[in-house]
Amino acid sequence: MVDLSNFVPEDVIEDIRNANDIVDVISDYVQLNKQGRNYFGLCPFHDEKTPSFSVTQDKQIFHCFGCGKGGNVITFLMELEGLTFIETIKYLADRRGIELPQSIVQTTKTQATSSDEQILSAYKWLEKLYHYLLRFAKDGQEGKEYFAKRGLTNETIDLFKLGYAPNQKTFTASFLEKKGFHLQQLQKAGILINKSNGETIDRFYGRVIFPIRNHLGVIVGFGARSIDKQAPKYLNSSESQLFQKSKLLYNFDLAKKHIRKENEAILFEGYMDVISAYQAGIKNVIATMGTSLTESQARLLRRYVETVIICYDSDEAGIEATYRAAHLLEQVDCHVKIAVLKDGFDPDTYIQTYGGDNFINKVLQPSETFMSFYMRYLKKDFKLQSKSDQLRYIQTVLKEIAKMNSSIEREYYLKVLASEFNITLESLNQEIKTFLKTNQDQQDNRKKDSYTKKATHFYQQKRLLPAYHNAERQLIVYMLQDRTITDKVKEELGVAFNIDQHKIIVTHLYAYYEEGHPPDISLFIEKLEDESLKHLVAEITMTSPVYEVSSDEIKDYIRIIREEYEDVSYINKLKKEQKMAEQQNDPLTAAKIALKIIEQQRK
Ligand SMILES: [Zn+2]
Repeated sequence: MVDLSNFVPEDVIEDIRNANDIVDVISDYVQLNKQGRNYFGLCPFHDEKTPSFSVTQDKQIFHCFGCGKGGNVITFLMELEGLTFIETIKYLADRRGIELPQSIVQTTKTQATSSDEQILSAYKWLEKLYHYLLRFAKDGQEGKEYFAKRGLTNETIDLFKLGYAPNQKTFTASFLEKKGFHLQQLQKAGILINKSNGETIDRFYGRVIFPIRNHLGVIVGFGARSIDKQAPKYLNSSESQLFQKSKLLYNFDLAKKHIRKENEAILFEGYMDVISAYQAGIKNVIATMGTSLTESQARLLRRYVETVIICYDSDEAGIEATYRAAHLLEQVDCHVKIAVLKDGFDPDTYIQTYGGDNFINKVLQPSETFMSFYMRYLKKDFKLQSKSDQLRYIQTVLKEIAKMNSSIEREYYLKVLASEFNITLESLNQEIKTFLKTNQDQQDNRKKDSYTKKATHFYQQKRLLPAYHNAERQLIVYMLQDRTITDKVKEELGVAFNIDQHKIIVTHLYAYYEEGHPPDISLFIEKLEDESLKHLVAEITMTSPVYEVSSDEIKDYIRIIREEYEDVSYINKLKKEQKMAEQQNDPLTAAKIALKIIEQQRK
């Protein structure tokens, strides 16, 4: 296979890397907190509740102490997004408005021949077509009127690229055919439908269209709503590898930066809720795809933000869904708040009726905590006039209160419970103890396999490494930062390192400097092809302390490494002699050599 990375000139890659700060790029995926020189967050490569994922800005690299992944900004995107090298370069260039040489743009184009790319390209064309029709054509008039009635401005319609699929069943198919698409492929993708009479028709005809973009802003499907009596009322693109409702969040690409800024995400149920709120200036808003929140969506959100405000419809189904979503978010350690709407309203109708300011001040601001919501929500299952039901209700609430981490919060809700049911706080405190105990035990068990523990273990293990192993790691850190040190090591040791992987790393490093590259850990990682080596270099440089180093210290490291190396090769030499003596039937010499080996190993 042709190595496509050869097509991108090095200075271009360098420019792109320099323009995309690793902390900035990773912050698009992970909420990072600064601790000392490094940033920490929840690892996007494995599930965890305590952060073991770290990023160093001055070295432009990341490393996870939990799963061992590490590398630079390009590795990060390639691994997380499953992009090729060229795709990553293109994405990072776009991100910073860097223009790529025409040859590279061409390369990406010729690559795009897979059926997924065909489908994505069909969506792009259709998005443009439907949007154009809605805004400017007679065929889109009905859609235009619908959105006008729902209070959307042209600016909003343009931003969300809302559209209308005309009420002519074969219009889309012939449009796409003229553009050179294979209709069969689009049928398979569920964009077109093949009727029994042989006609190929538009899946979405006669509906307003909500393009759905993934977190990178690439359109991967449509949500559609009928505006007459056509059933079903809502219709989505069919489920596929590209369009997975359980993983997508509507508007996540636009909302991301606002979520980060506000430190809060507002979760809705419907596309129109998101669009109305956005138009009203509330921009940290997202929605599920007409389905309940899933665990993977909850985890995705948690990586970005701690606080999530759930704002669903105020009907019974909405309240049920709120409870389920809140519960899921609590389980992944989100701080959940619940915004309650007046009876009969959904967020969209509320904003249309009372405006965005009222929505902020009267709905979002007074959001309830999960516990207050839960205490209210739970009441529907009990007949609270009856004493026995009261007791059962109190027990159920206590169980939930016991799960809270903060004792101040627990105390607060116990007081609420005490005053509501006219019980003493002491008896409630007594009662909750048994639940607290069970939770404590469970927590202890959970902690046993937590990654924090693994990280500590990891450090301890490192400290227990033999001196020569640590010396090699430390020396590599200095070599990565200083060419003179590298030259000295090359002269004195060459590749006589004891750990095989270290040997490979220094070999690459010598070549790296010889090619005239400056000391730059991130760039060096870039040049390594082997995944495990990338991870190892990131790990070594993240875990080894860096301070000014004296030439004596460097000499020391070299000495330790050489002695081990020489010992090992001396022993190997002795072992060979021993074997030879055995083969020549000379047991006395063999025994003498064996003694020497033991002596040497004791040293
Ligand atoms: Zn990890």
